[in-house]
Amino acid sequence: MPQIVCPACGAINRIPPGKPAETARCGKCREPLFQGRPADLDGAGLARHITRDSIPLVVDFWADWCGPCKMMAPEFVKAAQALEPLVRFAKLDTEAAPEAAAAHGIRSIPTMMVFRNGREVARQSGAMPAGQIVQWLRDAVLALGS
Ligand code: ZN
Repeated sequence: MPQIVCPACGAINRIPPGKPAETARCGKCREPLFQGRPADLDGAGLARHITRDSIPLVVDFWADWCGPCKMMAPEFVKAAQALEPLVRFAKLDTEAAPEAAAAHGIRSIPTMMVFRNGREVARQSGAMPAGQIVQWLRDAVLALGS
């Protein structure tokens, strides 16, 4: 049974088989588990998603001053709309949470990292259009099966 961390409150939700995760709401705070856009996470939220989500997680490390990050933001949203709820999409503001960026060895932004079962499985620096993000994620995690 997939275990999905609520991006709003951090509660762990178990989605029963046959219930569509894309319309599921958090059992604790009643917010939708997927909102058709990446979840904004802080350092603690990121750690919780990395360690507790059973679906793959892709994180966009970005900052407000970074032009390529801003160019990629709408592309990342489109990719989220294409792949959620198979993959959880999240963003981490490296200005607001520099320690989280440092902990993951982020040296340039934008950098996207993919985590699965608590471990990094892929990373990619530089902005990409939505189609390329989707293909990269398919190659990185979805081709391996669920
Ligand atoms: Zn919640």
